[in-house]
Amino acid sequence: MTDLLLENEQARRIIKTLGLPIPVPERLARAKGPYEERPLEDKRVLVGGRGELHDVIAQTLTKAGANPWVVGETDSVLQPYLAPGEAWARPPTRMAPGDAPEGERIDAIVFDGTRLQSPDDLRELYDIIHPWVRRLNRSGRVIVIGRPAADAKKAGRAATRAGMEGFTRSVAKEIGGSGSTANSVFVEEGAEARLGSVLRFLLSRRSAFVSCQPFHITKLAKGEDAPDMQPLEGKVALVTGAARGIGEATAELMAAEGAHVVCLDRPADDGPCSEVARRIGGSVLLVDITDEDAPARIAGELREKFGGVDIVVHNAGVTRDKTLARMKPDAWEMAVDINLGAVVRITDRLLSEDLLRPGGRVICLSSVSGIAGNRGQTNYSASKAGIVGFVEALAPQLAKRGITVNAIAPGFIETRLTSAMPVAIREAARRLSAVAQGGKPEDVGQTITFLATPGAVGLTGQTVRVCGGALVGA
Ligand code: NAD
Repeated sequence: MTDLLLENEQARRIIKTLGLPIPVPERLARAKGPYEERPLEDKRVLVGGRGELHDVIAQTLTKAGANPWVVGETDSVLQPYLAPGEAWARPPTRMAPGDAPEGERIDAIVFDGTRLQSPDDLRELYDIIHPWVRRLNRSGRVIVIGRPAADAKKAGRAATRAGMEGFTRSVAKEIGGSGSTANSVFVEEGAEARLGSVLRFLLSRRSAFVSCQPFHITKLAKGEDAPDMQPLEGKVALVTGAARGIGEATAELMAAEGAHVVCLDRPADDGPCSEVARRIGGSVLLVDITDEDAPARIAGELREKFGGVDIVVHNAGVTRDKTLARMKPDAWEMAVDINLGAVVRITDRLLSEDLLRPGGRVICLSSVSGIAGNRGQTNYSASKAGIVGFVEALAPQLAKRGITVNAIAPGFIETRLTSAMPVAIREAARRLSAVAQGGKPEDVGQTITFLATPGAVGLTGQTVRVCGGALVGA
């Protein structure tokens, strides 16, 4: 599917030359190829805030190749950045508060607000980010880090922590026009070491369509140190609905990180599914997931060929839209059974046969429609909201074995599913986000792949929206 303004340089030029008031969405900078050692090579990252996490921030930034610019009154703020800066040849630079020298630009801002206590302290967000927000390069990043509001002992402190999320969501909507994103990260006490890989992902080009989101890092699931490169080496991943769209992109990205991917789709999709599997060196499994014997067949295949499975991506899904008054029972049945019923039955079977290995990952596709509701999608929204409840309930049950369970809620993604929408609704829907455009299947695939990595162990029971900061249901 094409978006005239995004895909056609000539159209963009003519519109710009004529000064027409049609917003031209900024093309998002996206990552190419597998995970690299230094995804932030030569990026200038402004770091500020009187927080507790500067050690892990310093280590993450310098190791990833970024140049830290640290905001503070005296050189003492550079302390956490000196040793890692030397180790990775990225010495820090100090910036005086409020000083944003003329002509200087930055690629990202990281604000550590883990010590903010009272509503007055929120002013620090303003003081650090305000002078620089206009100097953020295209496809820039703003990351605001705090402690979870729910863990605060005093209501005022909880309010302050929660305020950081609201601030970040609004910043995201102000900077989205230049393809930039803003997200907040709340780190539970004791889970500090788990911040690194989340920060690395959010600052990288792999998170191009993730904006306005809060991430909650916990110590709930057991986990070990994780490699930055080829993080899925030796893992077996099952991806349902892998013949096209988000499933195809996910299968490709996971294979590029070292996973063996079992590509599952309906028997009628043998052609495209086998083509994907051949291209990525994976296997094919042709099953309709709603068939009565589907859970047994899937479990049998994974047991016999691989002795188990490490990553399960429940991606297969359909829409059967009609307003409730006009909806036929089979449209209800089909959407709810494919999108939710089959997910629950297959997961139950894999768990009851103990096929999901320790350190495993379950990632289910929800939808922004499941969170916000959508006219004509009562069946779809019920199924996708059901997914949110499913991952929330399952995550604590599996955490002891180091297994995480999360959902992804895509916004408008350019696939067969959205190409089936009426033109006018589609044109409006694809632009109703902070970055004013639809996402690509690879954007969702990148977030799924990240959640599948060992480094994402701090994230479980969550629903991560990949929606470019959708303006609905935010
Ligand atoms: P798609 O239609 O391009 O691909 C879905 C795949 O699932 C197809 O290959 C299809 O054959 C397979 N599938 C459907 N029913 C199946 C069954 N019974 N058994 C086995 N395979 C089956 O869709 P997509 O846009 O890539 O969506 C993937 C997932 O993301 C879905 O769960 C969808 O609800 C969700 N999602 C998509 C969007 C979007 O904007 N595209 C937005 C929100 C959520």
